[in-house]
Amino acid sequence: MFCKVVFDVPLDRDFDYAVPAELESRVKVGVRITAPFGPMLTTGLVTEVSPTTSLAQNILIKEIVTVLDDKPVFGSDLFSLAGFMKKTWGGPIGQILFSLVPPQAFFKVNLPEPLAPMHFSSADLTFTAEQEKIFEKLFSYLNDGYHRVLLSGPAKSGKTEIILRLVEKVLSGYGQALLTLPDVIAAQNFALSLEKRFGKEYVFCWHSRMLISQKKKFFSRISNGLPCLVVSARSGGLLPFKNLRLSVMLEEENDNYKQEENKPYFHLRDLLSYRAMQHEALFIACSDTPSLEILYSVQNQETEQVSLSKTFSNSLSTFQWKVTPKKGEKSSLLSDFLLAQLKENLEAKQASLIILNRRGYSNAYYCLNCGTYAKCQGCGAILAREKTAGGEDYLICKKCGKKYSLDQTCPQCQNKIFKSRGGGTQKIVTELAKHFPEMRILRLDSDTLKNKDGQGHQVRRMLDTAQADVVVGTRQAIEAALSHRVSLAAIADADLELDSPDFRASEKFAQLLFKLKNLLKVRQNGRLIIQSSSADVYPFEALSTGYEDCAAEEMLARESFVYPPFVKMVKVLVKSKDKSLLQAETARIMSVAAPFALETLGPVYTGKKTDIIKKQYLLFKTDLQKCNFLVNELDRLKASKKTEFKITVDPYDFY
Ligand SMILES: [Zn+2]
Ligand SMILES: [Zn+2]
Repeated sequence: MFCKVVFDVPLDRDFDYAVPAELESRVKVGVRITAPFGPMLTTGLVTEVSPTTSLAQNILIKEIVTVLDDKPVFGSDLFSLAGFMKKTWGGPIGQILFSLVPPQAFFKVNLPEPLAPMHFSSADLTFTAEQEKIFEKLFSYLNDGYHRVLLSGPAKSGKTEIILRLVEKVLSGYGQALLTLPDVIAAQNFALSLEKRFGKEYVFCWHSRMLISQKKKFFSRISNGLPCLVVSARSGGLLPFKNLRLSVMLEEENDNYKQEENKPYFHLRDLLSYRAMQHEALFIACSDTPSLEILYSVQNQETEQVSLSKTFSNSLSTFQWKVTPKKGEKSSLLSDFLLAQLKENLEAKQASLIILNRRGYSNAYYCLNCGTYAKCQGCGAILAREKTAGGEDYLICKKCGKKYSLDQTCPQCQNKIFKSRGGGTQKIVTELAKHFPEMRILRLDSDTLKNKDGQGHQVRRMLDTAQADVVVGTRQAIEAALSHRVSLAAIADADLELDSPDFRASEKFAQLLFKLKNLLKVRQNGRLIIQSSSADVYPFEALSTGYEDCAAEEMLARESFVYPPFVKMVKVLVKSKDKSLLQAETARIMSVAAPFALETLGPVYTGKKTDIIKKQYLLFKTDLQKCNFLVNELDRLKASKKTEFKITVDPYDFY
């Protein structure tokens, strides 16, 4: 007897092994085994068993050594899930499969334990007629085959309570439910609050640092299909559920749901939809400000949208927002108006938040007179100044790769004198310290955020306990605005938010504004200040009208410029120390991908010119079907010597 085995390695193939006679009865598809692989014994997974092998007779076939599981830990559902992930986002099949059942969790597949009847303490909240109607509708979808729903509505409109009552129904029907949040700390806090309601024995917060003993208990429960509620960040989507009835994404629009740094690559929205389809379950994406991707699927009738209209909380009429011009002059990022507001807050012992998106802008080129940035005539993205080692000095569009000379005329004021600007959050901190020596300032951006999950919460605690007055940070710093002491938020440079090379910039900016508005409108003296070179941009207007209008306008723009969700996008990042190898490899990838691409953008250089490893990326626009072929083709391509490349489907990170 022979079998095919995959390992948790970055090789996209299986390996043939012979099965010794004494192990034949135990080797089945889906069990883990150990076998000699490279210099040592390695845990692998059996993907195929057959009486014969297609390998030539003269090849020596190694034998597997031990069988680790009595029963398959991988069912057919996980194999098809892995196949879907590979087709959609690419990656080596062994690594994808092992991400679905961690090799270190030695759990047993047991017989289910006897079930006790369940009683839950419901929240004492009474639903409004609108909430009741939506709950009844979603409840009718449970155990009614696959449904994919977008539950939208303003903050505090009862979305979460509707979800929790559905969870209650799932648990009392002995089913499994999954609730996902954008980050682990938020998931842990949420899980703790749910233990009271659903009982400690049913609520699990899944994260990688879970103790081994907990992991064992947890995995047995999940893989045996016993009732449970799992609360987690995106990795919860990979767990081996056996009886998933309901899966929910809270804050669906959050970028953290895309896993593109580590393997396996996936977007939780598509992953959970697929799994709900497999389990004939209900999938709900929940959001105050839904992503364009899910709104597009609503348009295409792949998702049903149900909306709540009323909020529980009364917003205070004192909330104000204002767009103020930026200073053109180089030394200051903060306008006099903003400085006055910050002073007012400092004196009133209230906290403030300043957000500056600076990723990819270490060298933006701006008009010295009015602060307007030089932009690409093709696509409108802010240009970056680039100096090469060969002495070339030019401007480049990081979105489409077009080059421009340094001779620019300001479209706003016709001035011809430009300057390149560095300066990000650190510059604001320096500026604040100069104006307000007594101010206690915290900085929160990708440089200071070593542990991405913990710091936002820590900063929030410091604000709550009045140990800080101002937080300056990138978009991630929005966490700080959750503190009740924050009554003023400012966007330091809206131009950078709106005209970034990222095609999702306007959408993300609108979501940021709405989130800030929602938080500030319930605070005494809540104010939002936006520093911008132009006041008539649609995300601003939508602050008065509503997110839907803004999303509709953005949808039109995406369609006319042919960007996702209307097309698929595949990014290939190529790396090498040697510039000519880098160019050759890029050209090779381009020629392989060209037949599947509607359009190719780039190559666009990234990183600093002093970097030893040179990097550039290509962006391919393609349709859904061709995208799968393209991914497959690129997946099979081996990197040339001394070069590396990485494929990202539907990229969120462009820098
Ligand atoms: Zn100007
Ligand atoms: Zn461009």
